[in-house]
Amino acid sequence: MQAMVLERLGEPLKLLQRPDPLPADGEVRVRVAACGVCRTDLHVVDGELPDPKLPIVPGHEIVGRVDAVGGGVTTRKVGTRVGIPWLGRTCGRCPYCREGHENLCDHPLFTGYTRDGGYATHVVADARFVFPLPESGDDVATAPLLCAGLIGWRSLRMAGDGKKIGFYGFGAAAHIIAQVARWQGRDVYAFTRPGDAAAQAFAQKLGACWAGGSDDAPPEALDCAIIYAPVGALVPAALRAVRKGGRVVCAGIHMSDVPSFPYSILWEERVLKSVANLTRKDGEEFFAIVPQAGIVTQTVPYPLDRANEALSDLRSGRLQGAAVLVP
Ligand SMILES: [Zn+2]
Ligand SMILES: [Zn+2]
Repeated sequence: MQAMVLERLGEPLKLLQRPDPLPADGEVRVRVAACGVCRTDLHVVDGELPDPKLPIVPGHEIVGRVDAVGGGVTTRKVGTRVGIPWLGRTCGRCPYCREGHENLCDHPLFTGYTRDGGYATHVVADARFVFPLPESGDDVATAPLLCAGLIGWRSLRMAGDGKKIGFYGFGAAAHIIAQVARWQGRDVYAFTRPGDAAAQAFAQKLGACWAGGSDDAPPEALDCAIIYAPVGALVPAALRAVRKGGRVVCAGIHMSDVPSFPYSILWEERVLKSVANLTRKDGEEFFAIVPQAGIVTQTVPYPLDRANEALSDLRSGRLQGAAVLVP
């Protein structure tokens, strides 16, 4: 197999040849057809998340087909088209797992962070955490659904049912979840980097009723807002943009420090909440609504060996939609 490997934090990934991995009991091996590039991959590479496995193969938006199964696996067969998400394994025994909050498991494994991911031709995964996908479908277009879509969906649920919804950061996740919100009949307000006219036009093309800079106030108070950009200064901005009782959801795994802010912008029962990881139930719900909502992803494909270029394009904000590696 070939893999783009992070050997040391902060260094470029290296293309390495490795022996094909063998699935252990309960695991499947997947021939990767496409793997999306998520902002979390940047946080892993930059060393902003604690205790990554090193060396590590990043990537947790994986679409491919099972090409080998380990002992005891009866639910996934060779040839099945599957998706592999961020949540790689949970313990099943801790209080969070037992109460249906496996996203908060005390002893989890995460794909592309604490176990090898999909910036590769092959990847091994726990069969119980692999989603079956429809037989037909475009692999590149599907890849971003595995995290930007899925964790985006969880953040949308956490934001409640408010009609006027704001998205701070209009990248891979927002461009998918804005389509879901429109399908649900909500009004979408898109906040981009100040002056990013291209991103604002992109948001309006996807049905946003208003698009502006993150330093702009929306034309009316919002019911809720989701922050996808890893920028702590957006927290007080979003709190100022929502009405009394409104909700602000931080959807990322890492954010720069949140500046102090006056209590008055949180008061009046505004709610500030973060979203962590996903549950398998989120995945089942989300993949059921994908065909109904008619989601069309905008992707920029890169060959596997140009993963470093994809990461730097994501970092600089040059991408519109989602980068996807194709081995
Ligand atoms: Zn657990
Ligand atoms: Zn992700």
